[in-house]
Amino acid sequence: PQIDSNSSKKDHAVPRKIAVLTSGGDAAGMNASVRAVVRYGISKGCHVYGVYEGYQGLVDGGDRIRRMDWKSVRGWLSVGGTSIGTARCMPFKTREGRLRAAENLVHHGIDSLIVCGGDGSLTGADVFRSEWPGLLDELKKANRITEEDATTYGHLTIVGLVGSIDNDMAGTDITIGAVTSLHRICESVDSIGTTALSHSRAFVIEVMGRHCGWLALMAGIATGADFVFIPERPPMEDDWESTMCAVAHRHRMLGKRKTVIIVAEGAIDKSLKPIRPEYIKDILTDRLGLDTRVTTLGHTQRGGSPAAFDRILATIQGVASVDAVLRSTPETPSPLIGMTSNKVTCGPLMKAVELTHEVAKAIGEKNFARAMELRDPQFAEEFNAYTASTILDDESDLLPAHLRLRIGIVHMGAPAGGMNAATRTAVRYALNRGHTPFAIFNGFPGLVHGSIEELTWIGVDGWISHGGSELGTNRAVPGEDVDMGMVAYQLQKFNIQALMIVGGFEAFSGLIKLNEAREKYPSLCIPIGLIPATVSNNVPGTDFSLGSDTSLNSIINACDSIMQSARSSRRRVFVVEVQGGMSGYLAVEGGLATGANTVYIPEEGIKLERLQSDVRHLMALYLDDDADKSEGRIILRNEKASKTYTTDVISNILKDEGRGLFDSRTAVLGHIQQGNTPSPMDRIHATRLAMRCIDFIEQHTGAALEKAHLLVAVVGLTGAEVHFPSVKELVPKADLANRKPNKAWWFEHRDLVDLLSGRGLFTPEA
Ligand code: ATP
Repeated sequence: PQIDSNSSKKDHAVPRKIAVLTSGGDAAGMNASVRAVVRYGISKGCHVYGVYEGYQGLVDGGDRIRRMDWKSVRGWLSVGGTSIGTARCMPFKTREGRLRAAENLVHHGIDSLIVCGGDGSLTGADVFRSEWPGLLDELKKANRITEEDATTYGHLTIVGLVGSIDNDMAGTDITIGAVTSLHRICESVDSIGTTALSHSRAFVIEVMGRHCGWLALMAGIATGADFVFIPERPPMEDDWESTMCAVAHRHRMLGKRKTVIIVAEGAIDKSLKPIRPEYIKDILTDRLGLDTRVTTLGHTQRGGSPAAFDRILATIQGVASVDAVLRSTPETPSPLIGMTSNKVTCGPLMKAVELTHEVAKAIGEKNFARAMELRDPQFAEEFNAYTASTILDDESDLLPAHLRLRIGIVHMGAPAGGMNAATRTAVRYALNRGHTPFAIFNGFPGLVHGSIEELTWIGVDGWISHGGSELGTNRAVPGEDVDMGMVAYQLQKFNIQALMIVGGFEAFSGLIKLNEAREKYPSLCIPIGLIPATVSNNVPGTDFSLGSDTSLNSIINACDSIMQSARSSRRRVFVVEVQGGMSGYLAVEGGLATGANTVYIPEEGIKLERLQSDVRHLMALYLDDDADKSEGRIILRNEKASKTYTTDVISNILKDEGRGLFDSRTAVLGHIQQGNTPSPMDRIHATRLAMRCIDFIEQHTGAALEKAHLLVAVVGLTGAEVHFPSVKELVPKADLANRKPNKAWWFEHRDLVDLLSGRGLFTPEA
């Protein structure tokens, strides 16, 4: 085979030359973005250069600016930090430094620069672009570049990717690295929780975030901390110390044995006075007599190996940044690649930087409402969800007695991370509103047996981080596997006035049946909200279901270990079987996050022709590898991708056809994919959806008959918004036979998996 991994068939006469650098504080996922820029850039016929040590590499030039090839980024997806290095570079802040940087870029013939960093780095990039013509002029006059160079490189394209653990950038809902950082924080807080519980201690935990409370707030939600302090929303009371103590005391009186307070490093009171962890510790010790410790999490928060979310985010944004380079003209302002409502965006970079600076300004001016407004739209909602569901209210949120409801909570289908978190939030929020929450154990069969018990505030303590299902979950569908008459009878007997179901596709099927049966059984004419929870992410009416993020993280952890084994054994291809039923979500997103060679999914099926082409592709890759440094590779196969080409069959075909070039093994991940502790994203989604489910129930209680069809709904996440599509509305949008929605947003990622594994580039001649 003729392979040149530095060029592609699509090579232009004059290829674009793109440099990529990482700058500012390192963030997990930066490597994934560099990998995507390099590989996607090469696939588009560009020459891609890595600039080592951030802007310092631009200023220094020489071998700090290196041409990257396909293999130079192999294995980078799972590596934390940034392998091309980052630095805080003072010389780049000076014109002389930027002059040298410009000279180096011109000497390498580079016309575009993709910068992955925080607001400082992106400001620097924009300054560089705006000065570019002047810099070239000066270099030309000083004979440091030729006249021709000055004309050829008259325009520098800049594209920004936001790599920052703080999630402090406007123009994007989420930044590369923030979610991984949250993973590390939650792991630490969960660990601290066990010692706090054992000794009945209080812990004050400081997390990063000078002007941004995203990490602190999300960690507070995801770990069920008793109180959080963030810069954008300081406590509004003069005497916040007493409020905090009252809350901690109320929680203790109910039986809590631990107190956890999370403080952002930039936390302040309303007069801008810093709130320091040591001070909080003294208050808790002196006023409540709590044995209190302070823990500063520090650099563990930088993250290590990226979470699945960051690998995928960085990959699709890296791809988008190359597309933005290729689209750009001298007239277009420098773009920033963001993510809004689960969609990659491309907006003006400097506007985003200006808005980001406005947050700090608003805080400085004590305009906290504005500071909250400048954050992504969910931030304020999350803050309210946190206070309403975590802090035991002092009765101010109680509804009048006639509006209080008896709410049943039931889990359905297979266990999924976040089921317990949703239940815990629903219980606490419901109690704050005056409702009475009931646990229905073991799904609908449990209801029929009358396994119903009132849930208490302390009874669900700690559930936020528990995997599986505390209530017990069951696949039995009412009306199919369980007698609907008995369901209706028990609901009436226990006077259940609303239902919150947490589950996957079975739950959706159950919802349809319950809706249909309402004409016959008046006790079913109650608001019923379904919180989607299944690893397969196949519930119609939502972009995400609880448990799917936890599952992806389990898959990447398993695949990282498998990859290590494959790499060590050399020339081994693992066919890894993942769950998902008839939905290829886990295979595709898992494939993107692990750098799989390809994925087999039910949406496409498997044909012999495809297998032949995949074998040829693998042969080309292995022929191109250095004999003794050959790589391991993985392929993800969804469990239902094909009846004929099972995981074993595919692996055997690869073994036979590999002809000594490569060998194959299988790994069936099975129930490991349900995960142990739920991921922070699943916990956060669970909190938000559960609270909104209770709101939905309240709003639809006693609905007029003509609106009765709205009573039964999925509490779904569409982009960043929570919607309540009714089951009636969703049935036409569902493929009931194959148990999935007709359309899946993630399907557009499918081809990227193949593209980033070199399909099209590494094709042997016949
Ligand atoms: P983090 O979110 O981790 O703080 P950041 O990108 O904001 O990341 P900074 O230290 O502010 O981090 O900036 C990183 C580098 O970007 C600086 O060391 C400097 O080289 C460059 N830079 C920052 N601001 C400017 C500027 N106004 N002009 C030129 N270069 C700048």
